[in-house]
Amino acid sequence: MHGIGPLPDGAHVSTGVLVILVIVLVLVFAAALLLIWRLYTDSARRADEALRMVEAERRRTADQQAALRRYEVAFASITGRGELGEQVLVETARSLAAEGFRIYRAGLWKPRTKPGGFEGIGVEGLAWLKEVKKETGMYVSTEVATAKHVYECLKAGIDVLWVGARTTANPFAVQEIADALKGVDIPVLVKNPVNPDLELWIGALERLNMAGLKKIGVIHRGFSAYVKSKYRNVPQWQLPIEIKRRFPDMLMICDPSHISGKREYIQEVSQQAMDLGFDGLIIESHICPEIALSDAAQQVTPTSLREILGKLIIRDIDSENIEYKENIDELRAQIDDIDNDILELLTRRMKV
Ligand code: PEP
Ligand code: MN
Repeated sequence: MHGIGPLPDGAHVSTGVLVILVIVLVLVFAAALLLIWRLYTDSARRADEALRMVEAERRRTADQQAALRRYEVAFASITGRGELGEQVLVETARSLAAEGFRIYRAGLWKPRTKPGGFEGIGVEGLAWLKEVKKETGMYVSTEVATAKHVYECLKAGIDVLWVGARTTANPFAVQEIADALKGVDIPVLVKNPVNPDLELWIGALERLNMAGLKKIGVIHRGFSAYVKSKYRNVPQWQLPIEIKRRFPDMLMICDPSHISGKREYIQEVSQQAMDLGFDGLIIESHICPEIALSDAAQQVTPTSLREILGKLIIRDIDSENIEYKENIDELRAQIDDIDNDILELLTRRMKV
């Protein structure tokens, strides 16, 4: 009864508490370690995943840019309403993909000079293009003229956009497109305006550039002329040459279909474009040109498109290629001749 008895008990209790405390601490520590490990592996996995996504995106962009370079770019035109339209679009795409083409051009909204013409299939065609993309693996491209077109295309995953000649001529429309594209990294090709106004063309490029777009290219489709000429739109090659001089890295695409207006001139115009160092061609193709609802006379079948490209002579313009230089000299001489003719006509006109 010395009151000693409870002491060993108390000591026992405090040892027990201590042991429990140590166990709890060890468990908490282990749990914390596990948590840190999980967080670490999780973030490492996420970082790997993000890296993989960045690399995939980089590869996709590089691939897209490579496809845009040189004359691998071949585009088809689609036209037609309803089931037949879809059939034509998908079949043309299948044939072009089989010929090895990588980018498919399809005008879904078509500005017509006069009311009453076929103004394109519109939004409905975006689903057809998605189908083409899924089935053939080709990049798909269409013309945009309003902010609404842009939003619809972005929603549908269209790969490349182009601005048509009539739209480039309208700064309000171009600004609307540029605003709708802010913060988006999509290639945009700008056709020259219908009239030979270099600054108007460059102004459109500037508007897109100021909206933050980096993958901008131009499409040279010739210029409307009052006087009748061999081609539907006069090439006036000096204008795209001037663009190249001012912006040496600019992607330059030529549209021999809209310059020629007739399929029989597509070969020669394409060759001239290649001789002048253009990066690519945008050529209208249709599995059955006779039934095309727009620009039927300038459409070629996928097989003849391949033949046209097969016959092209691609010169190394960086080398001391004499034939190329002769060709350039000949073109310059032709331009000088035409300029002289214009001056002479103007002088005669003034005298009337
Ligand atoms: C087109 O590309 O089909 C088109 C309408 O062309 P452009 O804008 O050159 O007249
Ligand atoms: Mn057309």
